[in-house]
Amino acid sequence: MADELTHIQQQIRACQRCALAGFPIQGPPIFSGHAEARLMIIGQAPGKVEVTQTHKPFSGSAGKRLFRWLRQAGWEEETFRATCYMTSVTKCFPGPNKSGRGDRAPSRKEQQLCEEWLLAEIALVDPEVVVPVGKMAIERFFGRGRRLDEIIGGRYQIDGRIVIPLPHPSGASAWIQKRAHQVLIQRALKHLAAVKEELGL
Ligand code: SF4
Repeated sequence: MADELTHIQQQIRACQRCALAGFPIQGPPIFSGHAEARLMIIGQAPGKVEVTQTHKPFSGSAGKRLFRWLRQAGWEEETFRATCYMTSVTKCFPGPNKSGRGDRAPSRKEQQLCEEWLLAEIALVDPEVVVPVGKMAIERFFGRGRRLDEIIGGRYQIDGRIVIPLPHPSGASAWIQKRAHQVLIQRALKHLAAVKEELGL
């Protein structure tokens, strides 16, 4: 599995599908982790900081909030990065939103183009726990059209894996500012802490 994952990761790094299809994306593709990871976190897409400066997933301002949440569940950032697989629905920076506020959400077509890579990562890493972060990643496990407040705060068993969804940690997200939603986030973090303890992650 490790060799196969390395091979897929090389293919992802060389991927030009979205650029060839005319989408204004910016690489390199961002992801990190190894085949032995037992937890996989799946975001929406990397941001500018990740592709132009750090080349590490969740290392911009949204990532800072995500790691504050994960610390509450018992993970220090360094340990989490060293032991968990971090990826996203689309792996290149989609560019800024037209409004200038935040990043452009990857289109359905870009998500389809990148789907083969995400499915391969999940199959080859075969994580016991998946944490989809944000609506786009959550839709992959729960389908479209579901409200986040019906899903976040729960612990689920899907395709033999424990799934604990979190909202997108972007400061531009109005969802995470609501008090009722902060309660749901705290519930999700308690589930994560419990799973960490149960599985010895
Ligand atoms: S977002 Fe995914 S499919 Fe599109 S170019 Fe990057 S790696 Fe390839």
